[in-house]
Amino acid sequence: MIIDGKTKVCGLIGKPVEHTMSPLIHNTLAEKIGLPLVYVPFLVEEDVITAVQGAWQLNVLGMNITVPYKSDVMAALTECDELAAKIGAVNTLVRTKQGYKGYNTDISGLYRAISSEGIRIENQKVILLGAGGAARAVAYLLASYGAGKVFLMNRSLDKAEKIAAEVNQAFEKELIVPMTLTDYSGLPREKMLCIQATSVGLAPDVDKTVIEDREFYQWVHTGYDLIYRPAKTRFVQLVEENGGVAFHGLKMLLYQAVEAFELWNGVKVEEELALEIYEKMKGEMGIEE
Ligand code: NAP
Repeated sequence: MIIDGKTKVCGLIGKPVEHTMSPLIHNTLAEKIGLPLVYVPFLVEEDVITAVQGAWQLNVLGMNITVPYKSDVMAALTECDELAAKIGAVNTLVRTKQGYKGYNTDISGLYRAISSEGIRIENQKVILLGAGGAARAVAYLLASYGAGKVFLMNRSLDKAEKIAAEVNQAFEKELIVPMTLTDYSGLPREKMLCIQATSVGLAPDVDKTVIEDREFYQWVHTGYDLIYRPAKTRFVQLVEENGGVAFHGLKMLLYQAVEAFELWNGVKVEEELALEIYEKMKGEMGIEE
């Protein structure tokens, strides 16, 4: 890549940023499409607001935001996408004339990832495991894309109840049913999509999952684990062993980046190119399937 006076800069703000795969995705996209853009990681120790203001002054085209700043960064925005504002978390900043506008492409990326696997949400009953930041965003996604019913199961019932109350109020319907992780005998007797959004099973704790009881997996026809390190989580294994189809979260990571890239550059990334980059990501992670 030739870096000259016209090269634009995008980057990732977070702490830590050393293990990110985002530079691989964005720099490959820029190179393949032929855009003069470089993407670099920025470790921000504490003051994310000053960092974002500085980025704007430096003419930085766009930013991704990762842990722990997805909520704190919102105070630095001049505009915010409606769904991202409802979720209370942004992972993408897009440069405007006045400042940065915030978006949540984790969510639009997850929707694109699950759609690309042929998974439908509209009018479906869905089990959602977890009530942390990721699960909360997924709950909004499911409500926004017309899920029929969402059984939100979490270790701490109070957190599941809080998300359910908030989303049900925002969408003015009794969509989300909060439950504990052991309540599944109360689920309707049918197979459903199950989205795993807890942090249980993330490397290095690869031999764990949030519900170990095999009986639970009788309710699951399709499992989607947000975790992608490892690719074959215990959740994915248990879904498959009980006759279901299961996916890991690497495509969610791919498409959140693709959606951010499209927002920054006003281009459409062709599916063929996205999948080419996905192969690179799998290679980087040693995933063979
Ligand atoms: P978080 O806010 O820390 O929430 C953690 C969740 O896991 C909570 O529901 C928590 O339950 C549950 N949990 C933790 N330890 C548990 C245990 N021992 N037993 C039962 N439940 C337990 O984390 P997050 O930000 O939502 O992230 C969740 C996962 O999503 C992470 O693994 C992350 O890697 C993944 N993720 C993937 C992508 C992607 O691009 N693929 C994007 C975002 C996130 P309590 O409420 O009871 O504590």
